[in-house]
Amino acid sequence: MPEPGGTNGTSWDPSSWRNKPAKQEVIYEDQSAVQQAVNQLNRLPPIVTPTEIIRLRKNLKDVAFGKAFLLQGGDCAELFAYCEQNSIEAKIKLLLQMSIVLIWGGNKPVVRVARMAGQYAKPRSSPMENYNGKQIPSFRGDILNGYDPDERQLDPQRLVSAYHHSAATLNYIRAAIGSGIADLHSPLDWDLGHVRDDSIKAKYQAIVQSIIDNLNFMRTIGAGSSVLETIDLFTSHEGLLLEYEQSLTRRLKHPPDRIELVPEDSSEHGWYNTSAHFLWIGDRTRQIDGAHVEYFRGIENPIGIKIGPTMQGEELVKLLDIVNPQREPGKVTLITRYGEDKIKGILGGHIESVQKSGHIVVWQCDPMHGNTRSTETGIKTRQFSSILSEVSSALEIHKEHGSFLGGVHLELTGEAVTECVGGSEGLTDDDLSLNYTTFCDPRLNEKQALELAFLVAGHYKD
Ligand code: PEP
Ligand code: MN
Repeated sequence: MPEPGGTNGTSWDPSSWRNKPAKQEVIYEDQSAVQQAVNQLNRLPPIVTPTEIIRLRKNLKDVAFGKAFLLQGGDCAELFAYCEQNSIEAKIKLLLQMSIVLIWGGNKPVVRVARMAGQYAKPRSSPMENYNGKQIPSFRGDILNGYDPDERQLDPQRLVSAYHHSAATLNYIRAAIGSGIADLHSPLDWDLGHVRDDSIKAKYQAIVQSIIDNLNFMRTIGAGSSVLETIDLFTSHEGLLLEYEQSLTRRLKHPPDRIELVPEDSSEHGWYNTSAHFLWIGDRTRQIDGAHVEYFRGIENPIGIKIGPTMQGEELVKLLDIVNPQREPGKVTLITRYGEDKIKGILGGHIESVQKSGHIVVWQCDPMHGNTRSTETGIKTRQFSSILSEVSSALEIHKEHGSFLGGVHLELTGEAVTECVGGSEGLTDDDLSLNYTTFCDPRLNEKQALELAFLVAGHYKD
């Protein structure tokens, strides 16, 4: 029986999206194999719990009021093969290190959300692509098909595999954090050897020294040892493949502190997407009457909506009314991704529309997806300076509008890849072939990501 969900008067249940048109539609050939996979998923335990989900929702309310900053990052397309010790550790350490820099810069807590442990489904601009002169189905992420040209047919068992890789990844994240990977009593690696420009190097060194001095001081006085020893790291992915999301959506008891967020709601249970703490709707699937918005309006999790240049102010407010009728501050994160040139003509209008509507959102800048270009040889890349420029514009435009930037959303990896150009290492188009390993969009490598954190933090100090 459908039950009231998003409280806007119409009934909702985890499958009501099936009555709406879906972009990026998934058409499986063998429906009985899909049913078999879904039956398996339905009985597997939650990967995350309501207590954790509500904790993040409370943290994001703080972000919405300017009391904390949101750092979200990870791969564009996470592969099952990334479920491996070194690659998981490298990403946790990088996010930790970036967050320390941002805490230092902004003087406020940082909420860390990894694009990890479930970021397996990718929207594609075309269902087919050219491979050696032949048209083959595009790679749609490990949860749907394989990157190998022989594995492009959709395989429903991948739904189950996604669950297991997601659970194993989060298990190791939890174990590594619980065992001290984020313990700030051990020194962090702040190697700046790659920075070529002496004056930039001196600037970064001064930041590092200040951070080290602050940490030493805290250790000496024995302050905040729990803060120094452990961290919260939440997980997130694009909620694209609704068969999967539906299976992991469970009717569960609210934790007691949810009442602080929605005092007028005395229900005991709610629908929690237990596959990740935070999910977002992609720019290609955010249609007001579409299946994805229908699914998202009924879940308890804090959610994100990607917003590109084609979004209209009025449409944006309608969308907020649908997914957050109770107008809970911070329930929705608007992830803006316009491009370094377009942001100047669009963000201000979007901020004004939301301000007029009375909704209080988290404004997050994704400086990656509006700044992708192809090199002369057809390799997808992004320029570090364009990424920085979109973040800087976001900071400025928010300030001009009496608003503020709540966070950043980045595609990054803890490894020394060569996918984005620029930054202090001075990577050029010619260097891209050295270690270009992404299966979708180009990611910042660990040096570029940390440098971006230095520059954003520096902005707050200046
Ligand atoms: C992404 O985050 O990888 C993505 C596809 O983004 P968008 O929906 O903003 O295009
Ligand atoms: Mn991407």
